Amino acid sequence: MLDHAGAAAAAGLNTLGRSPRMPVLFVGHGSPMNAIEDNEFRQAWQALGQEFGTTYPRPQLILCISAHWLTRGWQLTAMAQPKTIHDFGGFPQALFDQQYPAPGAPAIASQIADGIAQPRLGLDTQEWGLDHGTWSVLKPMFPEADIPVVQLSMDYGRPPAEHFALGRQLNALRERGVLVVGSGNIVHNLRALRREAGAGQAYPWAIEFDARTAALLEQGTLAELAEFQQLGEVAQLAHPTYDHYLPLLYAAGAADPGEKLRFFNDRFQAASIAMRSVVWG
Ligand code: ZN
Repeated sequence: MLDHAGAAAAAGLNTLGRSPRMPVLFVGHGSPMNAIEDNEFRQAWQALGQEFGTTYPRPQLILCISAHWLTRGWQLTAMAQPKTIHDFGGFPQALFDQQYPAPGAPAIASQIADGIAQPRLGLDTQEWGLDHGTWSVLKPMFPEADIPVVQLSMDYGRPPAEHFALGRQLNALRERGVLVVGSGNIVHNLRALRREAGAGQAYPWAIEFDARTAALLEQGTLAELAEFQQLGEVAQLAHPTYDHYLPLLYAAGAADPGEKLRFFNDRFQAASIAMRSVVWG
């Protein structure tokens, strides 16, 4: 499953040792408060984190694609100490007090960028850092913050299939101890939030889009995930903007068609956010 560019990306990573093949994650992150609330979603992140070093190899690097970093062209963070970004408003001070001081990996980011010919990945040494799509899930999962983290942005101006194609090129990094994490939500409509709704309650269109997506994932027909807009109104309601869907395409791209997967957190938050998350491998 190594395409040429992906294999080249892995070959250039001479600073990372050989590793047993890493799994791939898609994590539904939902409300930023999940970072600090002791709820079922955060508990599942904590439990999954404890499987690294036992069920799964310990990552040498985490490459995270967050719904919250949209750019023209694509960028990789390449600073030694990425800052923790509190990219939200109207939440308690306790959330703004959160820090995730994981180191960056400028040399490895540069090697990953060099190994991918199309699209070109720019290196960001100044601007970004780790936004809450990344740290809100990694902090419960890897609380020691001792594994280097690199973020990859998304060019929202490009069609979904190009995001999936870039995800395909991340596949080979799994042989080098890189944990690829997509962080978004399979359904994400903030205008329709019903904060009083329980995790088992959701709108019919939310349930339908989540179920159709889950079926494609289970069938392993992963390239079809990029055609979600063909679902018409259901897709429009599930994603008035689709920034939270795109990270799924990167994770699915980094997986192999038909690769064994399991779901977790397959419930809803505030009736219009699907928290369904996926582990491949
Ligand atoms: Zn978000």
